[in-house]
Amino acid sequence: MKMIFLGPPGAGKGTLADLAVDLLKIPHISTGDLFRAAVKEGSPLGLKVKDILASGGLVPDALTIEIVRERLGKSDCQKGWILDGFPRTIPQAEALEALEPADKAVNFHVADEVVIGRLSTRRVCRACGKIYNVRNMKPKVEGVCDACGGEVYTRDDDKEPSIKTRLDNYNKQTAPLIDWFGAKGKLVTIDGVGEPALVLERFKAALGIK
Ligand code: AMP
Repeated sequence: MKMIFLGPPGAGKGTLADLAVDLLKIPHISTGDLFRAAVKEGSPLGLKVKDILASGGLVPDALTIEIVRERLGKSDCQKGWILDGFPRTIPQAEALEALEPADKAVNFHVADEVVIGRLSTRRVCRACGKIYNVRNMKPKVEGVCDACGGEVYTRDDDKEPSIKTRLDNYNKQTAPLIDWFGAKGKLVTIDGVGEPALVLERFKAALGIK
């Protein structure tokens, strides 16, 4: 199954993708994680995108499409994938359709107020990318990742004013993809509000996964 996870930042795409990976045994590919890893390494890609990420802006389409093209060419993608955070623009969606069309686009519907609340309390492991929330998904030891022992921190772009920029970008550039995938008959919309286990049940029911 080739799946796209759509929805605003903070909709729970990454959390759900991690749960769905255990179920479906296909890789979770997050363009945000790929860019953050490049920034951490200080690679040429990382140097190019560092300031864009910190400001909450979007990396240019051509560069983003190239990163995804390379990643989808790896051997673990043969049985399918979950793309989280890509496509984010119509040109990115068109490029993916031409490269390897997705079977489904799963749209996690969450209101802006909920998203703002979630982003401001979200924490992430700097080493493995596991997502936490200081309100209801805390690591067992404060500041330490349960999965890998890495440092759990607040992403630069989960602070104001980047949150606002990211939501504006989402509403202007990414939300139109909901109708775009709808017109292709690939759209599945799920209520993204609630605990991850509940959203996972909705996801499984909507996609007929046992
Ligand atoms: P995310 O982890 O999905 O919230 O992505 C973090 C940041 O990475 C975004 O705010 C953008 O700066 C960049 N980014 C991730 N995916 C894309 C994409 N598909 N197109 C452009 N920029 C992206």
